[in-house]
Amino acid sequence: MPKRARSPSHGPLALSKRLKASKSPEPILVATASQAPGSPQKAKKLKLLETYALTSPFPSYPHPTPVECTAVHDLLASHHNAYPSYSAQNGQGGGKNSAETCGATPDVLDSLVGTILSQNTSNANSSRAKHSLDTAFGLNPSPSAAGGEEELESARERGWAALANAPRADVVEAIKHGGLANKKAKVIQDALASVHAKHGVYSLQHLARPSSPEAEPLTDAQIMAELTSYSGVGPKTASCVLLFCLGRDSFAVDTHVFRLTKMLGWVPPKADRVTAQAHMEVTVPRELKYALHVLFIMHGRACGGCKSNGKGKEACVLRSYMRERGLKTEEDVDEDEMKEMKLKEEVDEDNVKEEAEC
Ligand SMILES: [Zn+2]
Repeated sequence: MPKRARSPSHGPLALSKRLKASKSPEPILVATASQAPGSPQKAKKLKLLETYALTSPFPSYPHPTPVECTAVHDLLASHHNAYPSYSAQNGQGGGKNSAETCGATPDVLDSLVGTILSQNTSNANSSRAKHSLDTAFGLNPSPSAAGGEEELESARERGWAALANAPRADVVEAIKHGGLANKKAKVIQDALASVHAKHGVYSLQHLARPSSPEAEPLTDAQIMAELTSYSGVGPKTASCVLLFCLGRDSFAVDTHVFRLTKMLGWVPPKADRVTAQAHMEVTVPRELKYALHVLFIMHGRACGGCKSNGKGKEACVLRSYMRERGLKTEEDVDEDEMKEMKLKEEVDEDNVKEEAEC
């Protein structure tokens, strides 16, 4: 979880001003199905991203509007006394555990591995698993111990090579506290092998900086396409790397973001996590993506009033906000619809198992 940033320059007022001056959000989910060698799941994943590249999967769905996004941002920021901004936390993750910081680290490969470890588990467990993996394979060496920049790069490279070539059982053992260890070990080792096969090095730093001073920076879409081309890396994981490591405006939809935005009616009931992300990538203003992502997760973890499909006993600022505006909370939705939504959610869970909690 990134650190909270509390600064007047990043408060709701400043944000509202930036919002007014902002351009409309640029959709980022672009990939081509033709890039999909191998599994039918990968072809399906890339096809889905391609389909929703330019417009929302729900183009006529009218929510969320920029005004709604600002209102909910201001409400949550004020309630939790937190004004997260990427610029305030950028660079603070250097040398830290990339699972603990949601992938906020300058090393793109380290960010990807940390984000994979954070899937389907708590922050504490994924941090423990990442720390254990770092220790077992000499990943994330400290700059002071490694010497100069070149030595640091070599030390990193040796660590990734050791992890890529280790017996699967050793990797599973190292990350056993993070849940789904067998699956995550395979995803991590497969991704490392693919990165090395494609680039000749265990590094994704080309996504962070242009290959030469004259080269154009990669677009969000190009980065998203490369990250999701690795087996087991879905749109949410890629979006977290874009958002937390690379400082791009992307709206990662994890389990809390999905639950709360669905409750707010920002996505239609039929949306699954992938289509919800594609919809809000287009509809949430760029300037609010980072802050809303962090605030929804903060609220989702802390509030007992909107858990269990909005039937929690505690007070919830989001449910009060909805009632004040005459919006239906889920408890108002009739029972049949609830049953149908629950069934759909279960199917969605199966479809996007790799896309869970940030
Ligand atoms: Zn709540």
